[in-house]
Amino acid sequence: MNAISDTKKDPKKMLEFDKAHIWHPYTSMADPLPVYPVKGARGATIELCDGTLLTDGMSSWWCAVHGYGHPVLDGALTGQLSRMAHVMFGGLTHRPAVELAEKLVGMTPAGLDKVFYCDSGSVAVEVAAKMAIQYMQSTGNKNRTKLATVRGGYHGDTWHAMSVCDPEVGMHALYRGALPLQYFAARPAVPFGGRWDAAALGPVEELLEAHGDRIAALILEPVVQGAGGMWFYHPEYLAGVRRLCDRHGILLIADEIATGFGRTGKMFACEWAGITPDVMCLGKAITGGYMSFAAVMATDRVAMGISENPPHVFMHGPTFMGNPLACAVANASLDMIADPAALQNVSRIEAGLKELLAPAASLAVVKDVRILGAIGVLELHKPVDMAFIQRRCVEEGVWIRPFGRLFYVMPPYIISDGELEKLCRAMLRITSEI
Ligand code: PMP
Repeated sequence: MNAISDTKKDPKKMLEFDKAHIWHPYTSMADPLPVYPVKGARGATIELCDGTLLTDGMSSWWCAVHGYGHPVLDGALTGQLSRMAHVMFGGLTHRPAVELAEKLVGMTPAGLDKVFYCDSGSVAVEVAAKMAIQYMQSTGNKNRTKLATVRGGYHGDTWHAMSVCDPEVGMHALYRGALPLQYFAARPAVPFGGRWDAAALGPVEELLEAHGDRIAALILEPVVQGAGGMWFYHPEYLAGVRRLCDRHGILLIADEIATGFGRTGKMFACEWAGITPDVMCLGKAITGGYMSFAAVMATDRVAMGISENPPHVFMHGPTFMGNPLACAVANASLDMIADPAALQNVSRIEAGLKELLAPAASLAVVKDVRILGAIGVLELHKPVDMAFIQRRCVEEGVWIRPFGRLFYVMPPYIISDGELEKLCRAMLRITSEI
């Protein structure tokens, strides 16, 4: 009891307790990297307990697109709180959930008319996989129990999500023998903005020809592969995959958890290729980064294929499904995202990143500089020294958390030009010290 009350008064004690008892993402309990205690966050600034102010380059893993402490989002949440925080969704419904579904059906690519709410991005991927497999079972395709995907992807940390993450940089080796085995095609080879070559579709075409009758769905991140390598590929590849899936009777699942709601410069990355997937996973920015929440969109065909055949129901229903607080803040977040100002901000950030990060291309440690929408990536030749880079970022007054060989930013859309310049200058300075 004493240890706990001490942590309230003394930030050092708080850090000691944190280190001894709390697991942080992808880290060790025996030898964790340092964590920085945060006092608060406003706009594009995170304030540490010692008063240090950090300009945010991460949008808290790509979700806080409107920045922190936004008065409209705060108001939506507290307004909803005064009515109800939560009620179960089995047998009940409420206005925030219905309003949100109207918005999602209206803004996602035409044809995605059915909405399933769930808890997080990874769970959305599980739900999408279950939908695809149940659809195939229900429509007489009993052999189609597998998923296909492309290398270099990332879809989350739960079971089926892990099974379709990149088999080398993901966690396949660790859970070998336990994870379901899926089908992988090579990473989409032609970069975004590169010269399209239809031969790039060869690997996925061969895969589907060889194993198509075992595959329920192909899942990929449209145009931008995020945590699997921050790789931007040609939209023609996505259009081609859509055609191949149709040819082989395979559902296409677009994981727009990272790309959705404007991040790539379009409202949804599928729009770069003008396609509608059969199932679309949404998360992260849906609540403006306020709460964990996700939605899976499906076409009528998928929903009715499941519902018109035994057992006639979709077997998923989490405790916090359609949580009213999350729906209310999502409604406010999507209203702001639908305002043209949001996508204009993304173009402004893209132009800024292109200009400010260009000099990095001449640094010997940099292999490639890639920018799309509000995403700026320096791909290095070697993996970064995380402890060094994190400390240097904090010294420079910026919050950037790289992984592997990727030093990148995905700032909140409301970041000012001055703040963006500060982020990029810090990236250049730190990269030149590596
Ligand atoms: N899919 C993609 C494309 C993601 O980027 C992420 C998270 N980085 C996920 C799924 C998993 O989402 P969550 O962390 O909310 O479970």
